[in-house]
Amino acid sequence: MAAGWAAISAAKAGASVVVVDKGFMGTSGVTAPAGPNHWWVPPEEGRREAAVRKRLETAFGLADPVWMHRIIDITWQSIPELAPWYPFSGDGRGGVFRSGLRGPEYLRALRCYALSLGVTILDHYPALELLAGTDGAIAGAAGYARLLGRPWRAYAGAVILATGGCAFRSGLLGSYSNTGDGYLMGVEAGAELSGMEFCVSYSISPSWLCTRTLPYTGARFFNSQGDQLEIPGWDRPRDYLCALATAFQDGAVYADLHEAPAQLPAVIREIQPATVAAFERRGLNMFRDRFEVSLFGEGTIRGVGGLRIVDTGCATSVPGLYAAGDAATREHIAGATSGGGAQNAAWVEARDHLHGEGLDAVAARETAAMAATARWCNAAARTRCESRGMHVRVDYPDINADYEQHLLTTGLESVHTNLESLSAAESGS
Ligand SMILES: Cc1cc2nc3c(=O)[nH]c(=O)nc-3n(C[C@H](O)[C@H](O)[C@H](O)COP(=O)(O)OP(=O)(O)OC[C@H]3O[C@@H](n4cnc5c(N)ncnc54)[C@H](O)[C@@H]3O)c2cc1C
Repeated sequence: MAAGWAAISAAKAGASVVVVDKGFMGTSGVTAPAGPNHWWVPPEEGRREAAVRKRLETAFGLADPVWMHRIIDITWQSIPELAPWYPFSGDGRGGVFRSGLRGPEYLRALRCYALSLGVTILDHYPALELLAGTDGAIAGAAGYARLLGRPWRAYAGAVILATGGCAFRSGLLGSYSNTGDGYLMGVEAGAELSGMEFCVSYSISPSWLCTRTLPYTGARFFNSQGDQLEIPGWDRPRDYLCALATAFQDGAVYADLHEAPAQLPAVIREIQPATVAAFERRGLNMFRDRFEVSLFGEGTIRGVGGLRIVDTGCATSVPGLYAAGDAATREHIAGATSGGGAQNAAWVEARDHLHGEGLDAVAARETAAMAATARWCNAAARTRCESRGMHVRVDYPDINADYEQHLLTTGLESVHTNLESLSAAESGS
């Protein structure tokens, strides 16, 4: 999604644009199997101010209202531009429903829009590294064309990393190709990450397959003895997830959806067909049969952290390098809460032993990127000695005003963290 919008925006500004995707641009990544809800707020008196105020409550001091207003405005302008390619439906009140889009059709529309502006799209062209010019500015990228079985190189005036987040191959729906490659390429080039400690969110799903989470509104949970567990409702997401995580420490957890909203069974197939399929293949009725559940890690996808952005054009601190979507930090908009071990040894293993040619090189880079991302998340989480938003520490359960700052993380061999005051972040220094 982010790659599509970035390409469209650059092409509209007159740039000659090439998009390389590790998979197929339109089906690869987490947006494709989702139904993304956009921050869709009309420019009516007071409504945007109220929306920003509400969102600031869960940002815990780390978001920026100016960025939030910008995002609302850009969204309001951009989504209707998809009309020639996206079948917007009615909102039931005589208007058009634009806030929620169906992933597959949304991405197909973005692809068509980009192509209509002359963007070149190269599918199955994973990027493996960035190329720098003699002045240190990023001047292109290199990778491996899977279907052609040969390396590629592209030279460019600037590169935008829109490689999505990293869910560490947890099984999260659509996340298999999202291995944090953009973070690794960015940090190798000298960029910093920000907000990597806010990357602890999970999707609840049947234990055998990650689906979507809507049906769990009103779910009751039980242990293997059939005792009902005390799990707070979704309106308290942090308490809800912490209670579930604690319950899993004692054994299997089962969901019962008898009390799901009455209208849900009639519409679930239309809204989330993949969710229904997971049960039907096992001969289960999801709203009648009790079933075992699991939590699937969402890593930096419904987390907040990513490459640090230093200006309103989404530049990183490396000249010629930009970031968009889950590859970038989303702290300016989300603050400390999004809408949801052994990694040092793994990094040494990756650094010393992972090499290869062709597809083996692609797999090696994916593993290295996941190990590096885990180290960055862990280092940032250890540095933030408090609990704020989605970052929860049992040893520091309270919020601490000293940490009302962004936390920057960088470094490959040795990882460094550094608190950045909000005023420095705003001035882009
Ligand atoms: C359960 C859940 C619910 C969510 N709900 C919402 C919501 O309601 N509203 C909302 O705003 N957000 C929501 N999110 C977050 C949202 O899904 C993501 O922020 C968004 O989809 C990210 O888009 P993206 O384009 O950055 O990444 P993706 O859609 O994941 O795309 C990443 C692309 O990068 C490509 N890629 C990866 N590595 C490479 C490489 N090395 N070379 C070339 N290409 C590469 C992939 O193939 C893929 O095409 C939710 C997330 C989850 C997990």
